[in-house]
Formats: sequence, structure tokens, C-alpha cells
Amino acid sequence: MTVDPVARGTEHEPRVEAEVQRAALSQLLKGGPLAEALHVVLVLVVAALVWNSLPLALTIGWVGAVTAAAGLRTWWRLQLAQRAPSPEQALRGVRLTVAGVGLAWGFGAAAAIPALGLDEAALTLVVLAGIVAGATSSLVGDRRSFRYLLITVLTPLPIGILLQGHSRPQVIATLLIALFAWGMDRVHRRAYHTFAERVRGAVLLEASTQELARQHAYLDALIASTPVAIAVLDGERLIGSVNPAFEALFGYSAAEALGSNIDRLIVPTGLGAEARDLEARARRGEIVRVEVERAHKDGRHIPVRLSAAAVKAAAEGALVALYEDISDRKAAETAMRAARDLAERVAQARSAFLANMSHEIRTPMNAVLGFVELVLDTELAPEQRRALELVRSSSEALLTILNDILDYSKIEAEHLELEAIPFDLPKVVHATATLLAVRAREKHLELTVDVPPDVPHMVRGDPTRVRQVLMNLIGNAIKFTEQGEVDVSAAVVRCGAADASVHFRVRDTGIGIPPEQLATIFQEFTQADASMTRRYGGTGLGLAISRRLVALMGGELTVTSEVGRGSEFSFTLLFPIETPTAVAPRQAASLGGRRLLVVDDNETNRRIVRDMLGAEGVAVHEAARADAGLAALRRAAGAGTPFDLAILDAQMPERDGFALATAIRGDPDLAPTRLLILTSAGQRGDGERCRQLGIQAYLTKPIARADLIEAVGTVLAGTPSAGGGADLVTRHSIAESRHALRILLAEDNPVNQQVATAMLLKRGHQVDVVSNGREAVDAIRARRYDVVLMDIQMPEMDGFAAADGIRALPQGRALPIIALTAHALSGERERCLTAGMSGYLAKPFKAHELFALVEGSSDGPTPPAPPIDLEGFRSTMREAGAEEAVDGIVRVFAQTAPERLAALQTAARSGDPESVGRAAHAFKSAAGTIGARGLALLLAEIEGAARESMLEHVQRELPALEREVAAVLDYLSNSGASHARSPG
Ligand code: ADP
Repeated sequence: MTVDPVARGTEHEPRVEAEVQRAALSQLLKGGPLAEALHVVLVLVVAALVWNSLPLALTIGWVGAVTAAAGLRTWWRLQLAQRAPSPEQALRGVRLTVAGVGLAWGFGAAAAIPALGLDEAALTLVVLAGIVAGATSSLVGDRRSFRYLLITVLTPLPIGILLQGHSRPQVIATLLIALFAWGMDRVHRRAYHTFAERVRGAVLLEASTQELARQHAYLDALIASTPVAIAVLDGERLIGSVNPAFEALFGYSAAEALGSNIDRLIVPTGLGAEARDLEARARRGEIVRVEVERAHKDGRHIPVRLSAAAVKAAAEGALVALYEDISDRKAAETAMRAARDLAERVAQARSAFLANMSHEIRTPMNAVLGFVELVLDTELAPEQRRALELVRSSSEALLTILNDILDYSKIEAEHLELEAIPFDLPKVVHATATLLAVRAREKHLELTVDVPPDVPHMVRGDPTRVRQVLMNLIGNAIKFTEQGEVDVSAAVVRCGAADASVHFRVRDTGIGIPPEQLATIFQEFTQADASMTRRYGGTGLGLAISRRLVALMGGELTVTSEVGRGSEFSFTLLFPIETPTAVAPRQAASLGGRRLLVVDDNETNRRIVRDMLGAEGVAVHEAARADAGLAALRRAAGAGTPFDLAILDAQMPERDGFALATAIRGDPDLAPTRLLILTSAGQRGDGERCRQLGIQAYLTKPIARADLIEAVGTVLAGTPSAGGGADLVTRHSIAESRHALRILLAEDNPVNQQVATAMLLKRGHQVDVVSNGREAVDAIRARRYDVVLMDIQMPEMDGFAAADGIRALPQGRALPIIALTAHALSGERERCLTAGMSGYLAKPFKAHELFALVEGSSDGPTPPAPPIDLEGFRSTMREAGAEEAVDGIVRVFAQTAPERLAALQTAARSGDPESVGRAAHAFKSAAGTIGARGLALLLAEIEGAARESMLEHVQRELPALEREVAAVLDYLSNSGASHARSPG
């Protein structure tokens, strides 16, 4: 805070004026006694001088007047001390007495001069001039007093002189007096100004000294009362000053601290270099702010926040350091870290516990569910079937509860991670509905699934979680609906080039939810009917989990409901699109332009069929009732444009699908029409009925798009037949039309081995079983398989390591490996896929899930990957600017490979590990160079075995090596690379 000096001058002006007045007065009064005495002495001297020339009376009168005036002044001065008047009054008194003395001198002289001779008169004038000159200093404090004296002393003189005569000397004397008076006045004026300035200077100096002292005191108080410890250091790091907070923080008194080296005082041993570095930075102009430790006098270390800066301008080389005690904050941070570590440890323990529990429960459940499913597929007495159905539904319920609890714990612990993998969205929706279709059928509910063709097929997301939410919503819809239908739909609300928003909806015609409960059903453990006598079971966790899962996936699960009319749950999710265009199914071309009639009383079902087949180029016509359908068929046939196929709903009011089929088959005009029956309640004997009625296909609802298209394609490809005997197309025949696969199952648990084997054998596949990863790798090396089912947790070598080993084998590079795991925790699937697996199945699995994965992964034998990546080699060489050398290198490799193989075989036979290693090493480098990775891997393995003198292992590998060399050479000669531009 600075104050403008000019402003400060004006601000002090009245005080300065008063001070000048006071100083003047005191100066005037102080010189009083001397002046008064001098006047008396001088008038006596003058009297002696003029004693002979002047009449006695005049001399005595003059002396008396001056003495009286001086006496009066003395008396007044003495009075003044007692009366204490104001400075103005006092000044007035001074002026009056001065004027009195002046008059006595002036008039005395004026009366005397005419009677005096020139020399006496001159001497008298000199005395008067001396008085006036003396007054310039004795009356310096007051201009007026001096002027009064000047006028009263000098004015009467010219009168006296001129009364003497008007000759030249008199005139000159008068002029001299006037000149003298003017001169003296100038002198006094200058003296007065000097006096006043001096006084003013003194006053201002005092004022600013006071101000400075005040500011000092303020700053001192500020520094003393600030809670931050402050130390000021000089250029030598010696402490110049500290504040009380410093004393309190470090325990040193100011006296102890002053003059000490700060390093020795408070910098802990070992931190000196760092402290000096900080100081250097501060001296370079940086404002240093760091958190460090400093030592208390008692040796304790105190965490402080140190701010240091060079003190500019004022003190050259000085440095101010501020220390803020942050012990409390540090302690809180440490406590927080400890709490977080503990929480993390607890969470980890909890995750591990969940994973283990999941594994332990799922493994036996897998056996229970798998075998029940298998036994249910055999001939059973009704009693047995009912009992087993109960076992199955109870196990499933148990599994659902287990999953819910696991999920809920994971969500609670914020450990639920979503996967982001490519999946077929319509398939997930259909598959989920298919799983629950049985339950809907049992309650005679219509379960419709509507996924229009514009819904992108391959999207990226977490299929398990999408399925889980849908499962929950559809499950609830079926549970809380007694009659009517449950509609499931997924529709695109916005589709961009890279992603699509899909709106999922599950609508039912069930009991509905009372408005007051709508808000709470998403809370965990909450049920609309929570009484002990409630009709519907459940844990009350499903919707809570679903809502959180939808939120995790970026959507919001909402509900609208009306009691007695039904509920509608919906949510919208955004999915990145994996492949922008859906892959056209194989039969698309053969379906284009075909005419089809769908007869179904359910509008939603008709639309689904229309959408699914319409997208394939089929012209779909609709009829809502059996007679309308029959009429439409007849009309079309009559017009010469008969329908190629009629899809009939089995359950229709009045006349059902089978009755309509009977009517159609009874009409010769409609004989060429192929028929497909869709049923939502399969009955025993339906198949036989279909065959008798000449119905070509029989499918159960809800039907997956791919299955419907495949079925329609198969039916249309066959001959239109009105008679029995033709093969009926069913969901099974569609699946079984796929070829039998050779499957390797690697699983250590004997019960699980049996479950999977039984399922796969029944499906017509061949299965070999091994019980650990090492055996799996050996088996792949020895035989050709279409698919491997790989348990992850196995003794000796686990599934991940085994997958690695298989991928390193030439025949294992492109082999589908499906991971089986009882760890149903999130992230497991991603872990499997990144570890090189092609698919993932969580235990316990359903037969159809297993089939879908096994058969889907091996849609016909996969063409083996080329044994050599010639293109990669070529592009590497191209980048190196040596592409023209490629053909030469490959040719040389092709020519020398048989020799190299022979050399290796000879070395192996000779039993010398070292020469085997050398031969393998050289061959390996050559193979690696041209991109024959499989061959190089095999050779690396042989080299490694040779180095460990495991010659039997080398012998075992040799046949595989021969095969691989042959494959590489075959490939090279087929691709023409080995002959290219061969010289000669
Ligand atoms: P749970 O079904 O295991 O009891 P949920 O969290 O799935 O638990 O559902 C909570 C409650 O919400 C149910 O108990 C039921 O009262 C109500 N609810 C859920 N879905 C429906 C539905 N579709 N129709 C009627 N009520 C429903």
C-alpha cells in the first residue's frame, strides 16, 4: 500500500500552517528578553551620543519612551505565560508591542535628527539600521511584526530629515532610508520563507516517520499473527527473522533461530541437497511450492507445504520461506489410502470367493441339468417325465437364483464389467425367446418375437447381458400373464453408418402392476405382492439387476402398466455395428420372386413372417382366418398365379392349421401348394399328421429368422408333393442336415465328460475325450479334428496353455477351439477370445447352446490356412526395396528344403543331439524368413528338444515335420512361386 507524497503534503497542509505559526510565536517570544534589554542599552548609548546636542527634555523623553515600550513588552510577555491565549491572539500582542517599541524609536529619532549635526544624525541612523537589521532575524517568524517595526521605526525619519531642510544630503538620506527599508523587507521575506520551509520540512518528516512506524507495526502484527510459519533468509541461508508461527511449528525461539543456518536448524539429514536445489530455483525467480518434510527441534519430522520466493527490490539476496503444517492432511490421506487398500483387498477376496463359489456350484449343476435333458429325450413313463421335468425346472430356478445373487453381488461391488464382442443381435433375441417358449407354451400363451430385417446383424456389445435382461423381462411377462400373449420386439430407432440405436420391448397381457408399485419394482428384493401367500415366486432381484445392467450398457429400463391389461417394459441401447451390411443367407437367390401366403390369426406373427421373408425377396400375402386363406389360395390358383407356399398357424380359432391343410389337400387345384405349419404348442403325433397330410415342414414358434429362411428354402427346393412319404422339414432336420463332426473334448471332470459326450453323440457327432491340456495338444498333433471343446480349469496344462500349444501346431492354426468354463464371471469370455479361442460356453450349458456353438463354429470343414505367408514375406521385402529378390529366395528354399529335411533326419538317426540342433536351427531360420511360420515353429520345437537331448521327442516330431515340409513345398509349387522366373 503506497501513498502519493503530493497528496500526503496537501493532507498535512493545515497542520503545517499551524505548526509554522506556533514555531514563529515561540521564536518571537524566545528572543524577547534579549531584544528588550538591547533596546534599553541602545537607547542609553544613543542618549549618551546626543547628550550635548539635544535639549535634555527631548533626550529624557526619547529614552523614557523606548524604555517604557520595552518595559511594556516585557510586562505583556510575562502576562502571556499565565493567560495562555491562542496563537493568533499572542501574535497580535507581539505585533502591538513591536509596533510600540518601533514608534518610540521612530518618533524619538524624527524629533531628534533636526537638532543634531550630520555625524550624530548619521550615527543615530546607523543604530536604527542595526535595530531593523537585527529584527530580520529576531522577528523572522512573523512578516507582519517585522513590517510594523520597519514602518514605525523608519517612517518618521524622513519627516525629521526633511524638516531639517531639502538640500541634497537630506534628499539622499531620505532615498537611502527608503532603499534600506525595501532591502530589509526583502531580506526578511527570504529569511521568513527559509524559516517556514524548515518548519514545514520538520513537520512532514515527523509525519512520515510516524506513518512509517505505523506501517511497520502493522506488518509486524500481520506476520506475527499469521498461522503460517515464515522465515526470511539472507544470501548465506542464515535466518534474518522468523514469526511466532515458525517458533511454534519448529520449537525454536526467535533468539535461537536468528542468525542460524536454516539447513542446520530444520532441514532433516539427507534432504540438504534437495533444499539447496529448491533455494536455487527460488533465487532464479521461480516461486517454489513443494510438499517436503522439515525437522522439529525435538527431532520429529513434520510434513510441510513449503513456498519460497526471492524477496525482490528491498533486500538483495533475501529469500522468504513459508511453511504450512500439513500433518493433518497427510494423516487423512494415509488413512484414506489404507482404507482404499483394505476395500480393494476385500473386493478382491470377494471376487475370488464369487468365482470359486460359481465354479463349485456350476460344475455339479452342469451334470444335473445335462443328464436330465438327456434322459428327458428318451422314452419315459408319464410319471417319470413329470418328476424329471420338475427336477429340471427346479435346477433351472436354482441356477437363476445363483446367477442373480452372483450378479447382484458383482454389481454391488462394482465389479461387473461388460464385454464388447461381436454378436448376432437378432439371433440373441430369438434364441432367448426360444429358451422361454416352452414355458409360454405350457401356459398356452402366444409368444411372438419381432426383429425386423433392418436390425443390424453383427453388432458389438455384451450378448450375455442383453440375453440376461431379455430373459428376465420375458420370464416375468410369462410368469405374470395367465392368458393372451407376450410380444418381444427389437426395432431400430436410429441407424447410422457406424452404430444403431435399438429399442427393445417386452409386452404382455398379464395382471399388470398397480401404479403405486410402479416406482418401487426396480428396487432390489421388491415384489408387487410380497405377502407370504403370494401366488408368484421370485427373489425380487431380477428387475433390479436388469435395470442396472441396462444402465451399465448405456440405456434406461422403463415400464408402463395397467392393472388387468398388462405391462410393457422397454429400453434402448446403442450398438456399434460390426459389419455394416448383413450377410445374405445362402438361399436368398432361390427365394427371390416366390409367392407365399401366411395364414395366422395373430397379426404380430403374420408381420414377423412377412418381415423375415419379405427381406429375402419373397412376396408375402396374408390371411387372418382359415377360410380367408383358403379363398385366397383358390383365387390365386384360378388366376394362374398360384402361391408357391402357404405357412399355416396350427392354433387358430374355428378352423385350425391342420383342418385348413386337410381342406387344401382336398382341393385338386391347390395340389401343387407346398405347406408349412407353424405351431406354438407341439403335440405328440404332429409329425405323423404332417406326413399324412403332405405338409412339407413343421416348425415351432418362436422361430429364428435363419431357421425359417432355411426351412422355406428347403421346402421350395424340394418337389411339391401332395402325398405322404416325403421328408418332413423340422428344426431338427435343419440342424441335422449339417454334417457329423469329429470333436475333441478336453475336460477333467468325469461327470461333465459324460454330459457333453452324451449330448454330442446323440446329435450324431464323433467325440474323443482327453482329460488335460497336454493330452489335448498331443491328440491334435495325432489326428484331424473339426472342433475342440476345451475346459479352462484342468490339471497339468490348463485350457489357455493348451490353446496356445494347439495354435502353434500347423494343423491347429485355424481349428475352432471352444472354451468351456464354470467361471461365469464377466470378462471370462473376452479373456478366452483374446487367448485365441474361437468361442465360449459357460457351464452349465443347454444341449442346444452346445450344438449351436459346435456346429456354428464348423460350418463345413474350414479350409486350412496356407502353410506359408508368401504375401507377408513379399510385402516385407517390398518395404525393404528388394521385392525382386523374393522369387529367387523362395526358389532356393524350395530346392534346398528336401536336402535340409534329409540332413535333419540323418542327424536324428545318428543320435547326436548337437548336429540335430544345428540342422534344425539353420532350417528354422530359412523357414522363418520366407514366412513358413508353422514349419519354423516345429523346427524350433525340435531344436529345443535336441538342446535338452530329448531325442525321442525329436523322433516323435519328425512325421509332423515331413508332412509340414511337404505341405509347404506343395503350396509353393501350386502357387508357382518356386518356379517363377527360374533361370534356364
Ligand atoms: P421376481 O420376479 O423375482 O419377484 P423381479 O425384480 O423380476 O423379481 O420383479 C419384481 C416384481 O415386479 C415382481 O414380483 C412383480 O410383482 C412385478 N413385475 C415384474 N414384471 C411384471 C410383469 N410383466 N407383470 C406384472 N408384474 C410384474
